[in-house]
Amino acid sequence: MPKIFITRLIPDRGINFLKNKGYEITISSKDGVLTKAELIDALKGKNYDAVLCLLTDKIDADVFEAAGPSVKIFANYAVGFDNIDLAEAKKRGVTVTNTPDVLTETVAEHTFALMLAIAHRIAEADKFMRSGKYLGWAPMLLLGTDLARKTLGVVGLGRIGSRVVEHAARGFEMKVIYYDPKRNEEFETEFGAVYKPNLDDLLSEADFVSIHVPLLPATRHLINADKLRLMKTTAYLINTSRGPIVDEKALADALGQGIIKGAAIDVFENEPKMEPALRSLDNIIVTPHIASATEETRQKMGEVAALNIIAALEGKTPPNLVK
Ligand code: NAD
Repeated sequence: MPKIFITRLIPDRGINFLKNKGYEITISSKDGVLTKAELIDALKGKNYDAVLCLLTDKIDADVFEAAGPSVKIFANYAVGFDNIDLAEAKKRGVTVTNTPDVLTETVAEHTFALMLAIAHRIAEADKFMRSGKYLGWAPMLLLGTDLARKTLGVVGLGRIGSRVVEHAARGFEMKVIYYDPKRNEEFETEFGAVYKPNLDDLLSEADFVSIHVPLLPATRHLINADKLRLMKTTAYLINTSRGPIVDEKALADALGQGIIKGAAIDVFENEPKMEPALRSLDNIIVTPHIASATEETRQKMGEVAALNIIAALEGKTPPNLVK
């Protein structure tokens, strides 16, 4: 029977799919991210047929080597796959899959949760109430910013970016501009979105900038000090994609110096660490990489990862093959 290694406990549905196939499942007993040495140790000489891994696992040449030729597939429990050395996988003929689509809705919702929370100063207001500072309604208390009819700039109009645009255009009548190497004229017509062939133009026009690109060499520090300076002093930056896409130190400087008005981010450059200068700023909201973290979605991600493994082990093309 095929043997599967799961690098950390995930919600049960996906695991049950694999068990129902009669596969032998081993789940790492560590309640934490395996270090590289631990991951290598867990895989070496075990002759697994498949590995279900997480975005916190760095899958590089050493890990492929330890896993050995018996492992046919690394099924990532995430849509992003910047944690896996794809060139190395290809060289070794190992299949890599991800979990797109099932998390789009949840990440788009979280993006809006962050956008609304920073614009309406929800975290600041919550802290204010709890500290007993509220002395009664006041006309100037904690004034925020409306989203309605403002300009949203979406960087990366893929699955998640598109869903964010739908909410923005339909729910908040926002004017939408977007930047992506691929233009989508049909989408433009449907949502009144305007294509900006130049990122700089988007940054200088948007009231809210929301990032939805994958982490690639070309997108590392896509938003740096120079780009932040192009944004309006009244603008907000939202990042639910990957931390290294934004230069976190430059972001802290921009927020501290009033170069932009605020930010809300779910991902960090050196997770689980956060740039210490962000900690004392009131004009940023931070969440710990939970944009896809709902009960429903984390179950579906497990299901998709499991179906990818089952397909690969049955000699079929997995539904979510990463090329
Ligand atoms: P997707 O592949 O559907 O969309 C990505 C889009 O970015 C594509 O349209 C692509 O053309 C565009 N793009 C690529 N390079 C670009 C560049 N240099 N400038 C502008 N656009 C560029 O992916 P998706 O499913 O929408 O997910 C987007 C990213 O969100 C993932 O890669 C992942 O890293 C991140 N994500 C984060 C979380 C979280 O928990 N915070 C959850 C899910 C996804």
